[in-house]
Amino acid sequence: MSLGYYVKSFTLWEFVKAHLLTLRYFFKPKATINYPYEKNPLSPRFRGEHALRRYPNGEERCIACKLCEAVCPAQAITIEAEPRADGSRRTTRYDIDMTKCIYCGFCQEACPVDAIVEGPNFEFSTETREELIYDKAKLLDNGDRWERALAANLAADAAYR
Ligand code: SF4
Ligand code: SF4
Repeated sequence: MSLGYYVKSFTLWEFVKAHLLTLRYFFKPKATINYPYEKNPLSPRFRGEHALRRYPNGEERCIACKLCEAVCPAQAITIEAEPRADGSRRTTRYDIDMTKCIYCGFCQEACPVDAIVEGPNFEFSTETREELIYDKAKLLDNGDRWERALAANLAADAAYR
């Protein structure tokens, strides 16, 4: 055993060193946040919970082209459609099985009218699998609730699309 070893042991050097390290980080800005009361900023490209958007006059954007259904690699989207009395084509059923979805964003990329989008909401855990089968009403409701953030995200990313 060297003399240095005995000196370090006698002065509790490792103990002092650990406390100095603690003190150094004590006065630095915190690396952690107090979630859920504090949240980190999200990228406009964040792919969270899905939503179906409307035009400002309340009309659904979706024109039932089924491109999103065709492109979905997880086959999570199911669409049924019928022409309306005025000849316009709209969905009668738009379901997303969120338990199948892999959040690839292909549906959003394929949509010609920015109807189906993945929004900033990541807090949609449920207690049952059934609650993760989203129907059209749920998706439109998400769109109504998040429209301001969805429109801002699309506008922020428009130059890169
Ligand atoms: S994000 Fe991908 S997997 Fe999920 S519904 Fe859209 S296309 Fe399908
Ligand atoms: S959400 Fe978009 S891509 Fe999908 S059916 Fe509607 S218009 Fe077409």
